[in-house]
Amino acid sequence: MNHYLQYCKPSLSAALTSIGLDKVYHRAEGQYLYYSNGLGAEKQVLDLLGGYGAVLFGHNDPAFRQQAVDLLQANTPFHHQFSIRNGAGALAEKLQPLLRKETGWPEPFRCAFTSTGAESVEVAIKHSEMSRGQKLELLSKQSERALEQLGLAFAENTTLSLALSEAQAMLHPELTNASSDQAIAYVSKHNASVLQQPPVFIALEHAFHGKLTTSIQLTHGIMYRQPFRRLGLRTEFVSIAQLERLCHGDTTWLDRPSLLLPKKTKKGLVLEEVAIPSVAALLVEPVQGEGGVYALTEADAKVLHRVRDMLGCPLIADEVQSGSGRCGSFLAGSQIGLKPDYVVLSKALGAGLSKLGVVAIRSGQYAEGFDILQSSTFAEDEMSCQLAAAYLDRLAEDDGRALSTVRELGEALLVALKELHQTYPDVIKDIRGKGLLLGVEFQDQDHAPAHLIRTSAYQGALGYLLTGHLLNEHGIRVAPPASAGNVLRIEPTILLTQQQIDELIYALERMCLALRYQDTGYLMHFLVHDEPHPTKEPKDFRPWYASLGIEQQYSQPADSKVAFVNHLISSDWLRQVDASLQHWTDAQCDDLVRRFAFDKRVAPFAPVRMQSSQGQTVDFILYPINSTSQQISEQLENNQLEPLRAAIDERLAAAKADGCKHAGLGMFTSIVMNNGKAAQTAGISLTTGNALTIAMAHEALVNAAQDRGHPIVSAAVIGAAGNIGSVYSLLVAEHCQQLILVGSGRQGSVKRLQKVAYQVYQAEWESLQDPRQPASGIASVLQNHQELIANWLSQMPDKTAGEAIFDWCQQYLSVGPVLISTDVAAISQADTVICASNASDAFIDIGMIQQSAIVCDIAVPHNLSDSVLGARPDIRCIRGGIVQTPHNESLDPRVRAYLGEGQVYACMAETVVLGMEQYPTHYSYGNLTKGQVKWIAQRAREHGMKLGKVKVSESM
Ligand code: PMP
Repeated sequence: MNHYLQYCKPSLSAALTSIGLDKVYHRAEGQYLYYSNGLGAEKQVLDLLGGYGAVLFGHNDPAFRQQAVDLLQANTPFHHQFSIRNGAGALAEKLQPLLRKETGWPEPFRCAFTSTGAESVEVAIKHSEMSRGQKLELLSKQSERALEQLGLAFAENTTLSLALSEAQAMLHPELTNASSDQAIAYVSKHNASVLQQPPVFIALEHAFHGKLTTSIQLTHGIMYRQPFRRLGLRTEFVSIAQLERLCHGDTTWLDRPSLLLPKKTKKGLVLEEVAIPSVAALLVEPVQGEGGVYALTEADAKVLHRVRDMLGCPLIADEVQSGSGRCGSFLAGSQIGLKPDYVVLSKALGAGLSKLGVVAIRSGQYAEGFDILQSSTFAEDEMSCQLAAAYLDRLAEDDGRALSTVRELGEALLVALKELHQTYPDVIKDIRGKGLLLGVEFQDQDHAPAHLIRTSAYQGALGYLLTGHLLNEHGIRVAPPASAGNVLRIEPTILLTQQQIDELIYALERMCLALRYQDTGYLMHFLVHDEPHPTKEPKDFRPWYASLGIEQQYSQPADSKVAFVNHLISSDWLRQVDASLQHWTDAQCDDLVRRFAFDKRVAPFAPVRMQSSQGQTVDFILYPINSTSQQISEQLENNQLEPLRAAIDERLAAAKADGCKHAGLGMFTSIVMNNGKAAQTAGISLTTGNALTIAMAHEALVNAAQDRGHPIVSAAVIGAAGNIGSVYSLLVAEHCQQLILVGSGRQGSVKRLQKVAYQVYQAEWESLQDPRQPASGIASVLQNHQELIANWLSQMPDKTAGEAIFDWCQQYLSVGPVLISTDVAAISQADTVICASNASDAFIDIGMIQQSAIVCDIAVPHNLSDSVLGARPDIRCIRGGIVQTPHNESLDPRVRAYLGEGQVYACMAETVVLGMEQYPTHYSYGNLTKGQVKWIAQRAREHGMKLGKVKVSESM
């Protein structure tokens, strides 16, 4: 196993593998990265990601590399902390004119060096809070002085009282009629608590400022921030429009606490309200990289300046990615006239070789003493600082030729991308960015006809799939920004050529065509083939999707929505789901399913509207998980249920969030969820659908017996002690003269079988007592001995009738009507066999089955394998009931499996019926009863669901 996967990033590595990004790069030069293709051949990749913006002049730029080598060879000190560090000083000095020119501030900037972007942001945060703290200190002193004065004033004049405004009287009722001591104590406590309040930070929507414990709270992407929400900063994420409204007095979203400062005025003693600097900083990225590539405008900059002035807080420009020349000027902000108080830089400033960051703070805002409090072992090292200084020199060379190259290349790329956008507006939504920091946003594929493409979008992974495609099919490296899975970010180096722009556009164009044509097979080709796509020509699958007639639009919402969790029968069924995979082999389909196992969420299918014959409508929605029956069986066998359970719980939660009130656990998911009982999701009514499955199978069995021409005389139930088997035993007991209950022979099996026998006798005896019902089945056998049994029962008051009859039969009949056995061979005595045993493989020897027997096998997986049935055409094997829908409503043809038009499986129909009934709680959940089976069968009939074709072959 790869050590990176094993010891460093197990989940990320799995994700990389799932989309073909699991390359091991061994060499980097200029615009290229190199990996070995596994057969020893070196593959060259055009890197248009540039180390997420950290490599502007190319990988291992020869001059910077030589400089690093020289510095190492000269034994340049690396670790000489706590001394005068000339390299840092020289770099800071070199930054001065640039910072002044680009920000417009005339004053010097103090520079705090770090090693990374997030560290730099954290240093900026720390500094802003220190500087706010200093202001609060002054206010605290002012408050103390004012309170002292108040005390003196009260001492001088005991009749003096506070003149409160109406609003103050409302907000501070304690002050009305307070004594002088009480008033002083109250104001003092109020002020102390206001001064203690933690700072607020303001960041923009789509912001990304790092992933450390503090900076993560300034990063808008919820996925990264949410798990750490208890750790840190109070942040308000706002739009520029919201900030504009703030300038016009809308402070609804921003708490602005005030101190109460007593003051003598002509009106008497008043409490002056002085707002504290509650906001520590306003952070912006002039061009947001990770949030989806959004650039601020000149108008935005003006709003930001006004808000900064109004709140009295520093404006921090996080130019970690956009700065250091990436956008065509040293600071991207200078292009929109942004005048930040702090500038944060990192990434490219290190010349692509060193890890360096810096926070430059204009001296007018610098908190004296901060530099004593802030340090870091690796910051200010000589080599990083000298490389960064050389990087700045390179930017300045030839009158800033590098920067103009960035602008020109950026423009050429932008124009080419915009042309592509014009040709494919149905696929590309927007082209954005500045200089060599560009983004291509794709149209949502949330409603894509091709379900695998739709699923990629559903998982927020479309951009990653496209990234894998570009890398593997075209040898081009890009990536989505951290928080925008629908965008491809393009950050090439300055070495980019027109020919490479053309290559990129060619590759993107093929990809756009594939998306337009919904050619999943083309897009995903790379995932299951060693060689790139032979023709690079996507095919048009739109006619196929149009022919399916799916995605009906309804003018009215349904009365209720129900979800049904299912999974793939086997991976080759993918070919049914997507015609573009029709030439894929079983192994390739398997490979795809395995790769995608990383994220088991599959996009829900479009709702199928079902209407009861009584009028109620239900939208039936499939919420599949990406697993096959075989994979689930293996996990069941190995008792590795947790990942599956988590995936099913997630499906239930998603269904609930989409407004489903009922959910059916289909196929193997009901077993995995222990008949629903292992599900964690509250607020959604669950069913396994087992009750109607039994009812329909039972109806089919009775019909089959009629067709056969002779009734059921002796029935055997395999797995009779189980949940389904016991209920089925009770039902079939109503028809047969002899019932053989077969158990596994595992510990306690006989006892459990006996219990079922008691229940059968009990139910049959009770039915005998009902004069309205003619006796049938086991009851008719008991009827032959009714008087003797009644007499026996009267002598056994402590036992239930069922148990007592069981005893009686044992004592007085040579062969009772209900027998128990732990030997499966007992089925050879039966003309009808019901299979409901929970075994992982088919285990019934077909030779044991009587000539012309009916077998009803509703076990999942089946107890009797399809493969042996061929040898015994005399046996009629029923696999379970298929239900005919009330108005021929049909599942999406891509997921019908063995079903035809107008058909659903009984477990699906049960879920629909519960939706039609708006049934308030779980139904087939945990232990089933005969009553449940009869009730749902009755309701299903009333809603117009009928027994359809009988399922006769394997379907799982
Ligand atoms: N701020 C911005 C704007 C960034 O783009 C990044 C990195 N993508 C960071 C901060 C964090 O930098 P680092 O990954 O070096 O911690």
